[in-house]
Amino acid sequence: MRCVALVVLLLAGARLARAQEIRVTLLGTGSPVPSAVRMGPSILVGAGAETLVFDAGRGASVRLRQAGVPFGRVTAVFLTHLHSDHVVGLPDLWLTGWLLSHRASPLELWGPPGTRELATHLEAAFRFDREIRVADDAAPAAGGHLVAHEIRPGFVYDRNGVRVTAIEVDHSPVKPAYGYRIDYAGHSVVLSGDTRYSPGLVRAATGVDLLVHEVAATFQSPDSARREILRVWHHTNPREAGDAFRQAHPKLAVYSHIVTALPDSALVRMTRATYSGPLVVGADLMQFRVGETVTARRVGPDSAQSVVVLH
Ligand SMILES: [Zn+2]
Ligand SMILES: [Zn+2]
Repeated sequence: MRCVALVVLLLAGARLARAQEIRVTLLGTGSPVPSAVRMGPSILVGAGAETLVFDAGRGASVRLRQAGVPFGRVTAVFLTHLHSDHVVGLPDLWLTGWLLSHRASPLELWGPPGTRELATHLEAAFRFDREIRVADDAAPAAGGHLVAHEIRPGFVYDRNGVRVTAIEVDHSPVKPAYGYRIDYAGHSVVLSGDTRYSPGLVRAATGVDLLVHEVAATFQSPDSARREILRVWHHTNPREAGDAFRQAHPKLAVYSHIVTALPDSALVRMTRATYSGPLVVGADLMQFRVGETVTARRVGPDSAQSVVVLH
């Protein structure tokens, strides 16, 4: 009897620990270059009752479904900036999500100035679908709307114990561009968004559990007849990202929004010039559980065979 009680207590404890963690799932780790392996930038953050999506690049809805997260569970979408590779998946997430989940309330967006205009024009562009889904599919009319919150750097969201802070980063001339910090139950995660090495981001990320940072290294686009080098100078190279990791000293550093055709091993080697701590080169559907410890695993199809390599 005592043994059963102990098992029940242990299970309850494990459930409580899980409830107190932040789960970060990389939905898309790629760049503007179309790829079936790396979808466009998008990161899912689950904490308590909140399911937050940061950016909605190409394929975000596909990865969300592969991750087994119902569309109706998404509580808010945050945009780091309005470059198209970060928002082209938004109509899909919004409208397909509405159709499949019968969401009865608008999808709420938080983002930099310009987010409201994006939302207004998306509603206009998809007016036909929004009307026919209500008339023909009995979709709740309110779910066919977007509500946009234009935000400044600082504290922007506080629901169910989850706090989100927008951090101004340096993606100039794209201004403003934000990174985000998420705090929940004593745990913390920072997402860099698109940025050069940014001292403000490093300050906001100092001592966090998980720091997810973009990275870019020079490569040539196969689409360009002139074989132009893609613009990587708006971004952070591996040496500079290593500087940010060394200074912020997170429990785990992760690359996502990987703007290069170089292999992971080359990215790691270049980063090791400036940083020797724990590092993961992100892949789509990699999930990090941020609790008393930070662990990494794959979710979705084929996850049983996948191992996350910690460098
Ligand atoms: Zn950008
Ligand atoms: Zn980008």
